[in-house]
Amino acid sequence: MSEDQVSKKFVYDFTEGNKDLKDLLGGKGANLAEMTNLGLPVPPGFTITTEACKVYLETGAEPVALCDEVSAHLEALERQMGKRLGQPDNPLLVSVRSGAKFSMPGMMDTVLNIGLSDASVAGLAAQAGNERFAWDSYRRLIQMFGKTVLGVDGELFEEALDEAKRAKNTPNDLDLDAGDLERLVDHFKEIVAKQTGHEFPQEPREQMDLAVRAVFDSWNTDRAKLYRRQERIPGDLGTAVNICSMVFGNLGADSGTGVAFTRDPASGHQGVYGDYLQNAQGEDVVAGIRNTVPLADLEQLDKSSYDQLMQIMSTLETHYKDLCDIEFTIERGKLWMLQTRVGKRTAAAAFRIATQLVDQGLIDEAEALQRVNGAQLAQLMFPRFEEHAKSQRIGWGIAASPGAAVGKAVFDSYTAVKWSRSGEKVILIRRETNPDDLNGMIAAEGILTSRGGKTSHAAVVARGMGKTCVCGAEELEVDTKRRRMTVPGGAVIEEGDVVSIDGSSGKVYVGEVPVVPSPVVEYFEGRMHAGADDADELVQAVHRMMAYADRVRRLRVRANADNAEDASRARRFGAQGIGLCRTEHMFLGERRELVERLILADTDAERDEALSALLPLQKADFIELLEAMDGLPVTVRLLDPPLHEFLPDITELSVRVALAESRKDSNENDLRLLQAVHRLHEQNPMLGLRGVRLGLVIPGLFAMQVRAIAEAAAHRRNVKGDPRPEIMIPLVGTVQELEIVRDEAEKVIAEVQAATGTDLKITLGTMIELPRAAITAGQIAEAAEFFSFGTNDLTQTVWGFSRDDVEASFFTAYLEKGIFGVSPFETIDREGVGALVRSASEAGRATRPGLKLGVCGEHGGDPESVHFFHEVGLDYVSCSPFRIPVARLEAGRAAAGKRSSDSR
Ligand code: PEP
Ligand code: MG
Repeated sequence: MSEDQVSKKFVYDFTEGNKDLKDLLGGKGANLAEMTNLGLPVPPGFTITTEACKVYLETGAEPVALCDEVSAHLEALERQMGKRLGQPDNPLLVSVRSGAKFSMPGMMDTVLNIGLSDASVAGLAAQAGNERFAWDSYRRLIQMFGKTVLGVDGELFEEALDEAKRAKNTPNDLDLDAGDLERLVDHFKEIVAKQTGHEFPQEPREQMDLAVRAVFDSWNTDRAKLYRRQERIPGDLGTAVNICSMVFGNLGADSGTGVAFTRDPASGHQGVYGDYLQNAQGEDVVAGIRNTVPLADLEQLDKSSYDQLMQIMSTLETHYKDLCDIEFTIERGKLWMLQTRVGKRTAAAAFRIATQLVDQGLIDEAEALQRVNGAQLAQLMFPRFEEHAKSQRIGWGIAASPGAAVGKAVFDSYTAVKWSRSGEKVILIRRETNPDDLNGMIAAEGILTSRGGKTSHAAVVARGMGKTCVCGAEELEVDTKRRRMTVPGGAVIEEGDVVSIDGSSGKVYVGEVPVVPSPVVEYFEGRMHAGADDADELVQAVHRMMAYADRVRRLRVRANADNAEDASRARRFGAQGIGLCRTEHMFLGERRELVERLILADTDAERDEALSALLPLQKADFIELLEAMDGLPVTVRLLDPPLHEFLPDITELSVRVALAESRKDSNENDLRLLQAVHRLHEQNPMLGLRGVRLGLVIPGLFAMQVRAIAEAAAHRRNVKGDPRPEIMIPLVGTVQELEIVRDEAEKVIAEVQAATGTDLKITLGTMIELPRAAITAGQIAEAAEFFSFGTNDLTQTVWGFSRDDVEASFFTAYLEKGIFGVSPFETIDREGVGALVRSASEAGRATRPGLKLGVCGEHGGDPESVHFFHEVGLDYVSCSPFRIPVARLEAGRAAAGKRSSDSR
């Protein structure tokens, strides 16, 4: 036994923990403890820590001390309850439930009714005064234990249950009486014996220990691993196990079980939201197996429990200062709380709830920023279905997770994955989903079910993933076996037919419904005003949250834009300048021909002629851009890509030349072009003649661009504008390269200033996008007035990953093997690329205090990366126009002190 194991305490009574111990007790355990200490009616119990699970997962055995600790807590529980686990005449029964730090709905195991056996089933019947209930509880134990602990195929139990119902000629399991259930128990036991080669374990403590071990093991099932990868939950956290004395919702009409939200998780509105199922145990509700009634109906069914529940919900919301979701059971009119947690919610609800809680005085603005994140905002910017589109509605279910999804109908997860891999958009249609459908849910554009409520598996998981979901569309008859769905009126949707689902209204359509921009985008575009009387509530909430973020953020947010249209949109979205104008985009289309002439020039005169023709075009480009961003900085990057990109495709050209030659009418220009293509061909163009290297090799190229920028700025001054251009040199590896370009640029700027009589104040800086540049940043800062980190190329060169190839070729394998949780081209690799950004920033500023620092790689708009750039002390991030609101929000969240993923 290691010292570590001796000193650790592996079991905590519910009275010992609290909500802040999620790392150790898991979310469920920590919150059960919190509720116990708030004096709420929680059935007594204890929690085995995640540390115990970690020891088990690392060594393959439970920590040595665990057995004795569990015994001590079990004895205490038995004393408190006045009965012993599985005691034949008066049995204590317990539930064994998983509970990790982050909720993983339905991913891990739970076993109820532990302690029941052939010996104690009669005792339970006597205790409850209800023989049917005792046999029903026992069959549930064998079924759940058989499936999750002993690995028996669950279908076998389902079939046996169906057979019993058929024999009784009823579709409803409530019609099975005690005798039917006793026979079913025998049948279930036979299934276990046949499938496992062992009798169903009759020893209560053995049942409990095996169930605990099964929960530990369920941490590493394929579906749990997949879920964690999807949700970016670390794989080494382990799960806690909660052992809780059983209370029963299946004792008759005065009993039941339900789930509730303290406010609507789809809209954020306050009210009574949830589902209740009379005479049932917990898993019946979550699994969406039987249809529930709205929670509000409980008021009629059991007024006193309802009132108490409302009271508790209000206590919890005030205590947690957030939306909570709850699982409860009513046993013969007595209410018990089985779980609470800060509830998952839709993106729209997250924004609304955050502002509502500020208005209620429960949280401040900084805390409100922690309740939302950039990924949610991005989701709100997705388009919606056009309201007046002529489309045929075929069903109307529950709006479980918003969005507009269109795709081909598929009826199983395997097909969903297969079709989506071949590029098809699919809608996964099921009667209800279960955890085995996770792969298909990930692959699908949206999920449609015909059964289950807002708290069904499909709804909870889809919301967590940000996927569109409509559930409980009961009028749709889903036939998974025949891969079809019958709609009211008898029409049939076959696999492959296109359907559209609206997760905000719950409506289902046949065919493709046209989509329109989201109101949030309309707001950012300035076409909808948050102050207007009819403004969408959501728009108002987004408006306020953006204001909170803008008030606290330190990072400025600029745009990557290279035309006036993008620049204007970026400005409407809140950009504070342009951080990257890629000038190569200005050399396409009709201008290609001029670039060809530049490349093919044999003499200085020919080259100068091509450059002179390009100059006014470039100048016009910059005038437009400077006008769109008047008064704000505009960083123009000099030409970057390899020259051959401007020449025709080598194969096409070779064929053209060969054909012409065979016809003996060869074209002189094509021949020269072909020679140039051969001359400029590179094995590794990304590492070849591009960026500053081009400027140094083609005389006059950069000078022409600098002149165009300077003349454009002078023009803007003349018309009383406020141009603020910054010139940026790409792909610099050594300060010498930069010095040569800088000297030339300064000369050109001085000439333009003299010729126009203006003082232009154009700054000169460089991209830091090669490891050598980052390592020698201290020297480079001597010649640069600003740095902008090009994290695309920096990631490519630090990892040695071709940015054009690797994501499609082997990243899936890397992600599956857990080598990284997310592509380093998407989220900054803090330890590698990030370390270079940090050290280059420090070295640069050591040389030139106040050196302006920014980033213009794709990472500039990635939520997690924005937090890193905030921490490192950059001045700004620059990203594509549509990501600007996300970057502003995350910059605000970073300043308010939270990591991007903390609002999970
Ligand atoms: C970069 O490399 O990060 C960058 C912004 O430049 P580009 O993507 O144009 O190479
Ligand atoms: Mg680059």
